[in-house]
Amino acid sequence: MNHTEEELRLLICDIGRNLFNKDFIAANDGNISARLSETEILTSPTGVSKGYLKPHMLVKVNLQGEILEAAEGYRPSTEVKMHLKIYNELPEMKGVVHAHPPYATAFAIKGESLDKMMMPESVIAMGDIPLAEYGTPSTEEIPDSLIPFLGKKTAVLLESHGALTWGKDVMSAYLNMERLEYTAKLTFITRMINGERELPQNRIDELVALRSFYGM
Ligand SMILES: [Zn+2]
Repeated sequence: MNHTEEELRLLICDIGRNLFNKDFIAANDGNISARLSETEILTSPTGVSKGYLKPHMLVKVNLQGEILEAAEGYRPSTEVKMHLKIYNELPEMKGVVHAHPPYATAFAIKGESLDKMMMPESVIAMGDIPLAEYGTPSTEEIPDSLIPFLGKKTAVLLESHGALTWGKDVMSAYLNMERLEYTAKLTFITRMINGERELPQNRIDELVALRSFYGM
């Protein structure tokens, strides 16, 4: 779907509100971006609660992270580097979401990927959710930690930090974040009731075959 810049700005603000209301981010954490054109990215600014984003606060940057347009007092997060890694390496990807959802982040802190194939929708939509190696925020370490997953995954846990998702549009990137946190929560709950139970391999194979019908 092609959005106008105005629509995209509103959508990013909506997504920020959802991330905030779902407790996927605390205070000024997290960031959201969307590809506006081949070379222009709209991103949420740093130092602002993403629950209270307004369209004019968003910052426009190029693929190198240089500011093209920003209202006074707003600048991109240093975490925008991991978004740019996705946009630079994967031209078909048009949205990236970074958050610290509590269940997913707990697994990220533990250093455990989410690889149990327990329910159909998650197997079809996402498969396993790997863990990207720890990196210091704002350095090139986090973008580099994504390299093994580019073109293979659209959701990863960031070790001892949080989660990053991307997609063919910013809405899909957001929905991938919802699914990632749901998977983490379900893994936690099933473990609490000693109920972690994977689907049999032949059932997993059937679901993987269904992915093509869903355009994945
Ligand atoms: Zn973060």
